[in-house]
Parts: sequence; structure tokens; C-alpha cells
Amino acid sequence: MSNTVKIEDKPHEECAVFGVSVNSFEAAGIVYNGLLSLQHRGQEGSGIAVTDGNKIHCRKNTGAVSEVFKSGTLENFPRSNMAVGHNRYSTTGQNTIENLGPFVIEYLTGRIAAAHNGNIANAKEIKENLKKCGVNFTATSDSEVISSLIAYNMMKEEDSLGGVIKAAKDLRGAFSLIILSGDNKLIAVRDPDGYRPLCIGRNETGTAVSSESCAFDGCGFEFIRDVKPGEIIAVENGEIVYQGVCLSTKSENAGLCIFEYVYFARPDSVIDGLGVYEARYNMGMVLAEEQPSEADIVCGIPNSGLEAAAGYSASSGIPLAAGFVCNRYIGRSFIYPTQIQRENAVKLKINPLKSNIEGKRIVLVDDSIVRGTSTEKIVQAVKDAGAKEVHMRVASPPSKFACHFGVDTEEESLMANAMTLNEIRAKIGADSLGYLSMDGLFKACGKCRVSFCSHCFTGGSPYAKVRKNELEK
Ligand code: 5GP
Ligand code: MG
Repeated sequence: MSNTVKIEDKPHEECAVFGVSVNSFEAAGIVYNGLLSLQHRGQEGSGIAVTDGNKIHCRKNTGAVSEVFKSGTLENFPRSNMAVGHNRYSTTGQNTIENLGPFVIEYLTGRIAAAHNGNIANAKEIKENLKKCGVNFTATSDSEVISSLIAYNMMKEEDSLGGVIKAAKDLRGAFSLIILSGDNKLIAVRDPDGYRPLCIGRNETGTAVSSESCAFDGCGFEFIRDVKPGEIIAVENGEIVYQGVCLSTKSENAGLCIFEYVYFARPDSVIDGLGVYEARYNMGMVLAEEQPSEADIVCGIPNSGLEAAAGYSASSGIPLAAGFVCNRYIGRSFIYPTQIQRENAVKLKINPLKSNIEGKRIVLVDDSIVRGTSTEKIVQAVKDAGAKEVHMRVASPPSKFACHFGVDTEEESLMANAMTLNEIRAKIGADSLGYLSMDGLFKACGKCRVSFCSHCFTGGSPYAKVRKNELEK
């Protein structure tokens, strides 16, 4: 039996992309800082590619950003004014170096590096077509398919931008992309439904593109705006030289993944006009209206339940209290030599604060319940710490449908897919259980400018049949 415990074995949808074009030679360092701020979107692997105007140099490996780029390794990159980086959470393909971004593709007349967040619905078909044209593949990831398609189209078009536009029109599904082209352009693309976030930052030295706006603060850039769904942007020598919404095939029941606000994104990011903190706080406020409870304190489950707990407390008037201490030095997966240690995995990461909890009636707020395994352990730990009652409140609707974009959680293992509300309550051991309604979630996210994909809660996505293993066969 493996003694590596993945305590967060959950839907993995994110991934981070960050790119920069500046008039200094700091590109690699800027991207490194950007990737550090985007670590929450993927910890399985990280990579940076830079160009010296002639060749593309890429370094990537499995592990967190600071493990991949240990002290001194950034200096090994040539001085460069363009770079692109990627943090990976595997959705398609195994977690091997070949499957890590950015992808560097060499072709007859040039070379590109591309970083991708999303999943392509027609990757298999594109791959087959490219193979017929003599293109070779070394990885199993759909990001390699995108990169090869772009490189193939660049060979046929006059310039790299034309090639990207042509290639992007053939892609279906979710893609937030940043491409470093051999002809000195940084090109950003967001799919017409806008599934994943992508935004633009500026400072006096140039332009950056990032999955989330929180990353700009850590490298001295100012958030300017989101890349619009369907928009393509090209940056040259730090300046935007092209911007246009060229991808227009918007699908019904498609849009920005609403789970970005619920869980994926960082609270200090602003996505499509709505701050993630504000969204989560609103979710808690609406949750308190919809699912009130008699209680002495409100506690959020660290970390992604904390903002909703604050909203719940403000709306209900029940005092907010710290219910847990979170060990921030424990990573995503870690080693337990013995069975006893494995069983205490959750408590090792989040330990109840007995002095606050003992003898109290507690409203326990979390952003979501997926399989219910960690929720069950946390409720038990709170009871063991002496809580009189535990009223579980979830700041999103029941997660019932497997995400069509490559989630490794089977639909049947989603607790709310198989069980009634009362069965879930009994299984997690709470005295009461209440979820936010779908209307409530939409209300909390009302300021967002774009439409949503809410397939994980409601079903109905046009891409419902896309499975993560499609490419690996
Ligand atoms: P469960 O009780 O269902 O096992 O876990 C619920 C917890 O999983 C919540 O605290 C929520 O923050 C977290 N969660 C929800 N979605 C994801 C995800 O995609 N990845 C990870 N690592 N955690 C998630
Ligand atoms: Mg959580």
C-alpha cells in the first residue's frame, strides 16, 4: 500500500498560466513571481520558457514552483524580455515531465512555447488529423495537441498571430492560452465561452498576462482588464499590438466556471468584474438567509470556507470565531510511515481550536462538499473537541455532476449524486445540514459580467461527454 496520502484528491480543474513581454531583461524572474502567486492553481509541476530572440529555453519539472526553480536556477536562463510559465494540475495525461507545460514545439520555420489552462473537447480528432499530416507527439496531454496545432498553422500563415487565430478557431472546449512565438510576440487567447479566467496587467516596463489578477501584485504589475471570452491579444516589445474578439462560437449552457468563485481562485483576485472574496462573502450572506441556524459561533473551514463564514456571521449576527489552526507547512500530498499517522491526516493539517469550540453550538461553513470524506473527519474532530452541536452549512449547491473537463472524480463518488440531504447529514455526522441554492449562488455572483458554466451543480453542459482519458487511449 502506498503511504503517500493525497489529502486533497478532488476535482482538478485549474492550472495556472502567466506570460510577460517587457523592455527589460527580467522576464524569467517576473514569471517566476507570477507562478508563485498562482501556486494554488496547481502544485504537481511547474515550468518556464524564455526566448533569447533566437532559441526558446525551457525548464520544467514536477513539484511546486520553489522546488522546480531552486535558488540560482533562474540565473541559468539567458537574459530575456519575453517569458511564459505554467503550473500544472493534471487533468489529461499523467504527471510526467513530458506532460508539463509550457510546451515547446519546433517546426520548419520557427518555434513556439505555449502554456494552457483548460481542456479541449476535440483534442483526439485534432491529434488524428495532425498525425496524418506527419506531426509527431511525445506526450499524452491535450496541451501538446494545441501547441502542435498552433505550430502547424503558423507554418502555413504569414505570421504567428495569423496562425494562432486560425488554430484557435478549430479548438472546442476550455482554453486560456499564452503563446511565446519565435517572431517575438506574446499571444493570449481565451475561448469563446470564457471557461477559465485570463487577464492583462501593465507597468512602465511592459505587459503581462495571467490566469488571475492576484499574481500582478507580486511582480509589480497593475491589473488592467480581463481578456474577453473569444478574444485574442498580441504583445510585442511590451506593447499590445493587436486585440480583437475573433472567436465567436459561444455555446449554450457554457461560460466561466462558477467553481472559480466557489473554490479554485484566490480571494484577492478579481475575475470578469467580480472580486473572489466578495463573491464568497456574498455566498455566506445568502446562505445565512436561506439556511439559518441557532448557534453560538460561526466557524469557517480553512481556507476556502473562511470568507463565506464571515458573510454568514455578518448576515446572521452570530459571532465569527476561529475554529481551527491550519498547519501551513503541509503540502498537497505527504508521506505517512504508519497507519496511525495516515488516519490523522486531516487533523495534522487542520486542528480544531478546542478553547473556542468546547461546549458551543457551531455553524460550520465550507465552500463545498465533494466526496464528503474530509467533511466527515472535520465534523468528527469538532465534536471530539467538545462542540455541543454542529450545523454544517455549505456555500454552494450540492455537487452532483462530474465536470466534463477532465475531473478525476467519478460522478458516483460525489456524495450529493448518490445520497439524499438527510443521508449526507447522517454520514458526515452533523446535527443539521444546509446548502446554498443555485439561485442563491447566482445572486452572490450577480456582479460578474459573463455567463456561467454551472454543470457541476446543474448538469446540462454541451461538453458533458468529454472525459479526461479521451487522449490517453
Ligand atoms: P470532502 O468533504 O468532500 O471530502 O471535501 C470538501 C473539501 O474539499 C472542501 O473543504 C473544499 O474546499 C475542498 N475542495 C473542493 N473542490 C476541490 C478541488 O477541486 N480540489 C481540492 N484540492 N479541494 C477541493
Ligand atoms: Mg477546503
